[in-house]
Amino acid sequence: MQDCIFCKIINKEIPAEIVYENDSVLVFKDIRPAAPVHLLLIPKKHIPTFFDLEEKDSGIMGDLQLAAGRVAREMGLEKGFRLISNCNQDAGQLVFHIHYHLMGGRPLHWPPG
Ligand code: 5GP
Ligand code: ZN
Repeated sequence: MQDCIFCKIINKEIPAEIVYENDSVLVFKDIRPAAPVHLLLIPKKHIPTFFDLEEKDSGIMGDLQLAAGRVAREMGLEKGFRLISNCNQDAGQLVFHIHYHLMGGRPLHWPPG
Protein backbone atom coordinates (compact mmCIF):
# COMPACT_ATOMS: atom_id res chain seq x y z
CA MET A 1 0.00 0.00 0.00
CA GLN A 2 1.40 3.33 -1.14
CA ASP A 3 1.39 5.44 2.03
CA CYS A 4 2.07 2.68 4.52
CA ILE A 5 5.43 2.96 6.29
CA PHE A 6 5.63 -0.80 6.91
CA CYS A 7 4.90 -1.57 3.23
CA LYS A 8 7.77 0.79 2.40
CA ILE A 9 10.04 -1.21 4.72
CA ILE A 10 8.89 -4.44 3.03
CA ASN A 11 9.67 -2.92 -0.38
CA LYS A 12 13.07 -1.69 0.93
CA GLU A 13 12.08 1.89 0.11
CA ILE A 14 13.04 2.91 3.63
CA PRO A 15 15.71 1.17 5.72
CA ALA A 16 15.14 -1.03 8.74
CA GLU A 17 17.27 -3.43 10.76
CA ILE A 18 15.82 -6.68 9.47
CA VAL A 19 16.44 -9.72 11.65
CA TYR A 20 14.33 -12.34 9.81
CA GLU A 21 12.49 -12.58 6.52
CA ASN A 22 10.65 -15.28 4.60
CA ASP A 23 8.04 -15.34 1.82
CA SER A 24 5.20 -14.08 4.02
CA VAL A 25 6.78 -12.38 7.05
CA LEU A 26 9.28 -9.63 7.89
CA VAL A 27 10.82 -9.08 11.33
CA PHE A 28 12.79 -5.91 12.11
CA LYS A 29 13.90 -3.81 15.07
CA ASP A 30 11.50 -1.18 16.41
CA ILE A 31 12.94 2.29 15.81
CA ARG A 32 12.05 3.31 19.41
CA PRO A 33 12.82 0.22 21.49
CA ALA A 34 11.01 -0.11 24.82
CA ALA A 35 12.96 -3.20 25.89
CA PRO A 36 16.46 -4.61 25.24
CA VAL A 37 14.85 -6.68 22.47
CA HIS A 38 11.95 -4.95 20.72
CA LEU A 39 11.05 -6.33 17.31
CA LEU A 40 8.13 -5.81 14.97
CA LEU A 41 6.68 -8.81 13.15
CA ILE A 42 4.61 -7.98 10.09
CA PRO A 43 2.97 -9.90 7.26
CA LYS A 44 4.14 -8.92 3.80
CA LYS A 45 0.47 -8.56 2.88
CA HIS A 46 -1.00 -5.17 3.82
CA ILE A 47 -3.75 -5.82 6.38
CA PRO A 48 -4.64 -2.72 8.49
CA THR A 49 -6.05 -4.32 11.67
CA PHE A 50 -7.42 -7.56 13.13
CA PHE A 51 -10.87 -6.41 12.02
CA ASP A 52 -9.72 -6.67 8.41
CA LEU A 53 -8.55 -10.29 8.62
CA GLU A 54 -10.23 -12.82 6.33
CA GLU A 55 -10.36 -16.62 6.61
CA LYS A 56 -7.69 -16.91 3.94
CA ASP A 57 -5.25 -14.93 6.15
CA SER A 58 -5.08 -17.66 8.81
CA GLY A 59 -1.88 -19.09 7.32
CA ILE A 60 -0.17 -15.71 7.31
CA MET A 61 -1.08 -15.09 10.95
CA GLY A 62 0.23 -18.53 11.84
CA ASP A 63 3.45 -17.72 10.01
CA LEU A 64 3.87 -14.62 12.18
CA GLN A 65 3.62 -16.65 15.36
CA LEU A 66 6.01 -19.30 14.07
CA ALA A 67 8.46 -16.50 13.28
CA ALA A 68 8.02 -15.16 16.83
CA GLY A 69 9.18 -18.38 18.45
CA ARG A 70 12.01 -18.84 15.98
CA VAL A 71 13.37 -15.30 16.32
CA ALA A 72 12.95 -15.26 20.11
CA ARG A 73 15.04 -18.42 20.34
CA GLU A 74 17.68 -16.94 18.04
CA MET A 75 17.79 -13.79 20.18
CA GLY A 76 18.36 -15.82 23.34
CA LEU A 77 14.98 -15.06 24.93
CA GLU A 78 14.46 -18.51 26.46
CA LYS A 79 13.60 -16.84 29.80
CA GLY A 80 10.57 -15.30 28.13
CA PHE A 81 9.19 -12.64 25.90
CA ARG A 82 5.93 -10.87 25.18
CA LEU A 83 4.00 -10.73 21.91
CA ILE A 84 1.62 -7.78 21.76
CA SER A 85 -0.61 -6.28 19.12
CA ASN A 86 -2.27 -2.89 19.48
CA CYS A 87 -5.58 -2.74 17.61
CA ASN A 88 -7.17 0.63 16.83
CA GLN A 89 -7.18 3.85 18.81
CA ASP A 90 -7.92 2.65 22.34
CA ALA A 91 -4.88 0.37 22.17
CA GLY A 92 -2.71 3.12 20.70
CA GLN A 93 -2.21 1.64 17.24
CA LEU A 94 -0.09 4.10 15.26
CA VAL A 95 0.77 2.12 12.15
CA PHE A 96 -2.21 0.61 10.37
CA HIS A 97 -0.42 -2.42 8.97
CA ILE A 98 -1.12 -5.30 11.35
CA HIS A 99 1.90 -6.18 13.50
CA TYR A 100 3.08 -7.85 16.66
CA HIS A 101 5.60 -6.29 19.01
CA LEU A 102 8.01 -8.92 20.32
CA MET A 103 9.61 -7.63 23.52
CA GLY A 104 12.04 -9.24 25.89
CA GLY A 105 15.42 -9.10 27.55
CA ARG A 106 14.09 -7.76 30.87
CA PRO A 107 11.27 -8.67 33.28
CA LEU A 108 8.01 -7.36 31.80
CA HIS A 109 5.26 -5.98 34.02
CA TRP A 110 1.67 -7.16 33.88
CA PRO A 111 -0.83 -5.82 33.05
CA PRO A 112 0.55 -3.33 30.52
CA GLY A 113 -0.93 0.18 30.86
P1 5GP B 1 1.82 0.62 17.23
O1 5GP B 1 1.49 1.67 18.24
O2 5GP B 1 1.17 0.90 15.89
O3 5GP B 1 1.53 -0.76 17.74
O4 5GP B 1 3.39 0.69 17.09
C1 5GP B 1 4.06 1.04 15.93
C2 5GP B 1 5.54 0.86 16.21
O5 5GP B 1 6.25 1.09 15.00
C3 5GP B 1 6.10 1.84 17.26
O6 5GP B 1 6.66 1.10 18.35
C4 5GP B 1 7.15 2.64 16.49
O7 5GP B 1 8.31 2.90 17.27
C5 5GP B 1 7.46 1.75 15.30
N1 5GP B 1 7.84 2.47 14.09
C6 5GP B 1 7.19 3.51 13.54
N2 5GP B 1 7.81 3.92 12.42
C7 5GP B 1 8.89 3.10 12.27
C8 5GP B 1 9.92 3.03 11.29
O8 5GP B 1 9.98 3.79 10.32
N3 5GP B 1 10.87 2.07 11.46
C9 5GP B 1 10.83 1.19 12.51
N4 5GP B 1 11.81 0.28 12.56
N5 5GP B 1 9.87 1.24 13.44
C10 5GP B 1 8.91 2.17 13.33
ZN1 ZN C 1 1.24 -1.78 4.76
